[in-house]
Amino acid sequence: MQTNLIGHISTIFREKFGHVPAHIARAPGRVNLLGEHVDYNDGFVLPAAIDRATYIAFSPTGAPHSTLWAADFDQQVSFSPETISTKSQVDSSPIPEWGLYPAGVMWSLMEETLPAFSMNAVFASDVPRGSGLSSSASVEMAFMLAWQTLGGWTLPPMRRALLGQKAENHYVGVNCGIMDQFASACGVENKLLLLDCRSLEWKTIPLPEHVSIVIADTTVRRKLTSGEYNKRRAACDEAVRLLQQDLPYIESLRDINVEEFNRLAKKLPGEIEKRARHVVEEIERSNQAEALLEAGNVRNFGRLMNECHISLRDLYEVSCPELNVMVNIAQSIDGCYGARLTGAGFGGCTVNLVARENAIEFSRTLAKGYELETGLPPEIYITRASNGAELLR
Ligand code: ADP
Ligand code: MG
Repeated sequence: MQTNLIGHISTIFREKFGHVPAHIARAPGRVNLLGEHVDYNDGFVLPAAIDRATYIAFSPTGAPHSTLWAADFDQQVSFSPETISTKSQVDSSPIPEWGLYPAGVMWSLMEETLPAFSMNAVFASDVPRGSGLSSSASVEMAFMLAWQTLGGWTLPPMRRALLGQKAENHYVGVNCGIMDQFASACGVENKLLLLDCRSLEWKTIPLPEHVSIVIADTTVRRKLTSGEYNKRRAACDEAVRLLQQDLPYIESLRDINVEEFNRLAKKLPGEIEKRARHVVEEIERSNQAEALLEAGNVRNFGRLMNECHISLRDLYEVSCPELNVMVNIAQSIDGCYGARLTGAGFGGCTVNLVARENAIEFSRTLAKGYELETGLPPEIYITRASNGAELLR
């Protein structure tokens, strides 16, 4: 897949710009194994960068503007530092939605007074779009690396992630946490990444050799996104405000443990209690994950993933029938340690931890069962934890 995409963008680059690209970079998508909807509650998340990525072929140019070709859309944008703040191109037309991600990266670099020199670029990706695997962060981190390469400055990966998040929050206008850009920038081959979303400290956790990460895309995309997502965030804020009456020192749901929460839960209105309980218990689960994985206890880690799904379904209420079908079938197949919805929910993907020797058969059985029950052919990817954004040449 990687070599195909690199060949593809290099060919288009030569056709469009008349020479071979000076550089090629890649930045991966990500999948989160545990710690869902806790990033904006200062919790812990456990993502991995995956072996699907955005690839970019690029060269510096003497032109005053950057010209970027999105091979997956057959579209081009041209913008310069002068046109960035109005989200317009050099011909004054508005930057299309997909162009806001790279333009946002240039904008966030300009805010830091870091040079983002003009470039010609062609990019393409095998991260599915809008399915919860962070195609957007992979685009941002690929461009971040491209501008770093041309600019002669170097930022640590976490700083690049933070600037990418700033671009997405304030330029594109999507209220995402730091996990996506973090995983795309900081991924390490064959490792899960444990990130403390409060301190931004992180470490790698080994993923046992004998397990595979299998991602199953329901192919359902519901336009929850901002409305329901913002409601969940508001419910968490409200829970903190109410709990502060008894526990004035808490700043977020991270600061309350399950025992204390059980003691005070009655004081919360029903829906707020359910939302907050998911977060408090999910943070507790992700706290247990490290020791389990360090000990190679995949079975109990998988149980935590299963519990996480039930909690997202019944307490946080961000699942949907297709996700539940995909998870139920997966959990009944040989070799499956754990299965749950991943990402924001309401469609998109599930993540499954599966014995490596069963992974291919698991994928076949899951695809067949899901299609039989829903009438929808799913996309299933057996994936590996991969390195974060890197310059390939
Ligand atoms: P995801 O969960 O995949 O990150 P988002 O809605 O956050 O979903 O981001 C998807 C958007 O990112 C797309 O609509 C598009 O604007 C941009 N994007 C992602 N991949 C590509 C690509 N290969 N080429 C151009 N734009 C892309
Ligand atoms: Mg995204």
